[in-house]
Amino acid sequence: MRVTLLAGGTGGTKLAHGFALLDAPVELTVVANVGDDFELHGLHVSPDIDALLYTLGGLIDVERGWGIRGDTLSAHAMLERYGEPGWFTVGDADLATHVERSRRLREGHTLTDATAAMATALGIGVRILPSTDDRYRTQLDTDEGRLEFQEYFVRRHQEPEVRAIVFEGAETARPSAAVLEAIASADLIVIGPSNPFVSIGPILHVRGVRAALEASPAGRIAVSPIVAGRALKGPADRMLASLGHEPSALGVARMYAGLVGRFVLDEADASLASEVEALGMTASAMPTVMRGDGDRRALAARIVQELSAPSRDRRDR
Ligand code: GDP
Repeated sequence: MRVTLLAGGTGGTKLAHGFALLDAPVELTVVANVGDDFELHGLHVSPDIDALLYTLGGLIDVERGWGIRGDTLSAHAMLERYGEPGWFTVGDADLATHVERSRRLREGHTLTDATAAMATALGIGVRILPSTDDRYRTQLDTDEGRLEFQEYFVRRHQEPEVRAIVFEGAETARPSAAVLEAIASADLIVIGPSNPFVSIGPILHVRGVRAALEASPAGRIAVSPIVAGRALKGPADRMLASLGHEPSALGVARMYAGLVGRFVLDEADASLASEVEALGMTASAMPTVMRGDGDRRALAARIVQELSAPSRDRRDR
C-alpha cells in the first residue's frame, strides 16, 4: 500500500515513524514542510526535514524532540565567539547535516535530490520529499510586527500573538514532480497531527498541492494535533484562538473540511465526533498520543485499518 503523509517536524514526524515501523508492506512517502527553512551561519537549515532524517534514521534526541542524541556544542560555542547569533542551537553533528545540504544545493542539486541522498546515506528507506524545491518561507504577522518563522518559534519562544500568516514565495513556488506523483499515485493520503497553520498550511499553500490532493483518488484522512483542547507541544492551540478558530479538534476539523473524508480525533475528544461528522467527514476516535514506538506503530496501524472501514464519501474509501 502506498501511503503519502503530509508532515511537520514533531507530530507528523512521529506518525511517519509509526508507518515506518509497521510490519505491513507500506511504501511511505512523506511530504515535508519547508516553510520553516532558513539560513544560519551561511548554511541552509531545514528543521522539519532534519527532524524526519534524525527520527527515521534513529538519531533523534528523543528527550528534546530535536537534534541528534549525544551531540556536542563545540562549533556552536566557537560561532558565538565569532559573534554569530546563538539563539538557534546547532550541535556539532547537526552542523554537518547543514553543511552537507548546503554543499549539495550550492553544487546545483535540488533540495529534493539533496534530501534523498542524505536519507539514503543514513539508511532511511522512507521517501522524504520537500513540499517545494523553490524558495518558500513562512512569516508571521504578530503583535511585535512581522517575524520570520524561526524568529517567532525559537528566538521569541512562540510568545508573540499571531494575527496572520504569510507564505513568502507562494506566488512562484511549485511542488516538485515527485510530490505531485506521490499524491496522485497514493492509496492513502494522511494529513499528520501537525500544526495546521505553520506545518500543514505551508504545504497546502504551495500552488497546485491542494488541487492535486482534491484530484487524487486516494482515501484521505487527517489526524488531529489538538487533544482535549490543547496542543501537545507548540502554539497550535493558541494560534487557533488568535486566528479566529475554535481551539479544539473540531476547529482543526473545520479547517480540513472538504479536503479529507475522515478525521481522526483523540479518544479524549470522542464527544466531538457528531459535530465533526456534521462537517461531512467520518469521525474516528482513537488513542493518538504517541509517547513511544509502540504508540506510533499502533496509530499508523489503526489508520490503515480505518481505510477499509465504511465511510461517508469517496474522499475516504
Ligand atoms: P513542528 O514543526 O515541531 O511544530 O511539528 P508539527 O507541526 O508536526 O508538530 C506540532 C504539533 O504536533 C502540535 O500541534 C502537537 O499538538 C502535535 N503533536 C505532537 N505530538 C503528538 C502526538 O503524539 N499526538 C497527536 N495527536 N499530536 C501530536
